[in-house]
Amino acid sequence: MQTIGLIGGMSWESTAVYYRQINEAVRARLGGLASAKVAMQSLDFSEIVALQKSNRWDDAAALLSDAAKRLEAAGADSVLICTNTMHLVADDVAKSINVPLIDIRRETGLVLAAAGKKRPLLMATRYTMEHGFYADYMRDEFGIEVVVPNEIDRAKVHSVIFDELCCGIVKEDSRHALEKIILRGKEAGADCVILGCTEICLSVTDDNVALPVFDSTTIHSNAAVAHALGLDFAGKQNAI
Ligand code: GLU
Repeated sequence: MQTIGLIGGMSWESTAVYYRQINEAVRARLGGLASAKVAMQSLDFSEIVALQKSNRWDDAAALLSDAAKRLEAAGADSVLICTNTMHLVADDVAKSINVPLIDIRRETGLVLAAAGKKRPLLMATRYTMEHGFYADYMRDEFGIEVVVPNEIDRAKVHSVIFDELCCGIVKEDSRHALEKIILRGKEAGADCVILGCTEICLSVTDDNVALPVFDSTTIHSNAAVAHALGLDFAGKQNAI
């Protein structure tokens, strides 16, 4: 089994989910007392948010690249950036290391493509919904046209992520608001929803929404396990 490198802390609420899911997937595959080999760099999220807010993406890229190099030095055989938003600098981070960066956009795109989905609603931070790095990637790599919520709904999703979920607060009324946004996405022609922020799974589950759910946290952590165990899992990361 290879060692999985996690750049986490963005926020740690979702990194904890990654850690649990990765270990559960290894136990499901190998049984007994088997658990994942994990190296982690858990960053201070307040520093990352300050860089995001001031548009200092180059500084953020340098910070994450340093973390990736430390993981490689610690023996990681792959590296994951445990947030969709910070994939805005994924190319820089990938170039800074000699082990593969497992890209959350690629793994999500593979699963969507295998499921025949073409118009996913993207629920994510404003950075992910409004910068090109996510939608362009999906279009260029997979021919998938991402749909984003309207302006008011984007503001709501962004604030639920940063003011609540990243602070460990899960509110029932916010969950209902997210569900309604997904319903509006369906009415606008979306054929599924990407939980494109690694904390949204703390609130929304596929039991209570109008569209088929693709959770980026689950897909990404399963892809890491598939890579670490040498499994051929392309497009099936939803179901390891
Ligand atoms: N974890 C979130 C994401 O997947 C948001 C936190 C961040 O801004 O990195 O985008």
